[in-house]
Amino acid sequence: MVEPHIKPGQKVLLKPNLLGPFTAESAAVTHPEVIRAVIRLVRKAGGIPAVGDSPGIGSVHRFAGISGVQKMLDEEKVQLLDLKTPIEVDHPKGKRFKKFTLARELYDFDILINLPKFKTHQLTGVTGAVKNLFGCVPGIVKSRYHFKIQKLAEFVEMLNDLADLIDPQLTIMDAVWAMDGAGPTAGKPYHLKTLGIGADCRALDREMLKLIEGLKDFKKVEKPRDNMYHLPIPFLEKVLKKYTSEWPVIDRSSCTSCNSCVAVCAAKALKKSAITPVFDYDKCIRCYCCQEFCPEHAVKIKKNWLFDRIFNLLSRF
Ligand code: SF4
Ligand code: SF4
Repeated sequence: MVEPHIKPGQKVLLKPNLLGPFTAESAAVTHPEVIRAVIRLVRKAGGIPAVGDSPGIGSVHRFAGISGVQKMLDEEKVQLLDLKTPIEVDHPKGKRFKKFTLARELYDFDILINLPKFKTHQLTGVTGAVKNLFGCVPGIVKSRYHFKIQKLAEFVEMLNDLADLIDPQLTIMDAVWAMDGAGPTAGKPYHLKTLGIGADCRALDREMLKLIEGLKDFKKVEKPRDNMYHLPIPFLEKVLKKYTSEWPVIDRSSCTSCNSCVAVCAAKALKKSAITPVFDYDKCIRCYCCQEFCPEHAVKIKKNWLFDRIFNLLSRF
């Protein structure tokens, strides 16, 4: 499977999803045994493997410890890299951006193998091959992209640009235990028993989407709504957002006041307080990074039920 892509002596970077402090059993991160299997295949093909990722906030080394990835890497004697050093890279063919901030560490390798986890995602519907490459943008710089792009369609276009630019030689998607429901971190493990393999990230994501379409008990994120808009008249924008958007709230009983959500919010729509962080919904761009990076799953997404029914009805036509 990996042999055709690797020549003996080549340095091979494996890019799993290690986005936060989650165990392998939570299905929020790429399972260590999937990474181990690919490490062994790379070695068999004569390549020299290393593993790297860059979470939006927090330490990749800590998260690798919690997920069991570090233990596996120690057993296999493989290095873990923090993809943390920003460099500017031109992308003349980009549709949304002609320049990206990427991790310099990527350029120390001959081959990139993308190892995403297949999960539902509050903003984009699902996260898989294409979205995992967003982890090649160092740390908190990712939030700035969320802030710069105010429309979901444009955000997806940016992710596609990024996938074209990074263009991994191979993607092996861990969907043995996928995640359904409130992904990408607060959903439930779903035994999909699948490894998705391909050289074309977008085609692989499309195939995975087809696969879950046929599953009645797989809880999808409802059709993502483009809440990330800006209108020229602030008052109109405020009213429309209030009555049409989903919005994040904090469940006080689960919140430990760690303030990770405050740190990851590029829109500065969350402020620390004596108890739990407080939202400023006028500033909130509905990127849901606070939900994604809350280690306690304390950020919930609320909906306006009346608008939601109208929207669902209209989207059938
Ligand atoms: S909502 Fe989550 S991320 Fe935010 S302070 Fe509470 S526990 Fe931390
Ligand atoms: S409060 Fe949450 S959803 Fe709103 S902008 Fe900040 S991180 Fe994004």
